[in-house]
Amino acid sequence: MASIFTKIVNGEISSYKIAEDEHYFAFLDINPLAKGHTLVIPKKEVDYIFNIDDELYKGLFAFARKVALAIEKVTPCKRIGLTVIGLEVPHAHIHLIPINNIYDMDFKQPKLKLEANEFEAIAENIRKAYNEIP
Ligand code: 5GP
Repeated sequence: MASIFTKIVNGEISSYKIAEDEHYFAFLDINPLAKGHTLVIPKKEVDYIFNIDDELYKGLFAFARKVALAIEKVTPCKRIGLTVIGLEVPHAHIHLIPINNIYDMDFKQPKLKLEANEFEAIAENIRKAYNEIP
């Protein structure tokens, strides 16, 4: 059965999309730790990130870097934290989280509850910044 994230890539489940190319897809996490919390995935459905083949794996991090630079450009924060957990959704994904201190990466913290229009505004800002990166 297709993962939730494959369904998002295929447009069967809606998402607040940030960027996409032939192999990768980035979209806002629906339960964000911070405004701008984004997930970056390979379109190919692989559960465990370290089972991704070398070329696709390197490309995933290069794609995530560009997304992180875009988030950073439009989000007040010290930097963008990156983590991989993957215990909930069996489709490899990188979390990109705007942070000001180490506690901002703590997944035990309550998640933000945002309205659809807030998600859309955040996604639009990051998309614009992403498209301006050469
Ligand atoms: P992990 O697998 O890394 O432990 O967590 C999965 C992440 O995916 C969580 O942060 C969760 O909020 C996010 N997530 C789960 N289902 C959906 C969904 O349907 N849409 C979006 N945008 N994010 C999701």
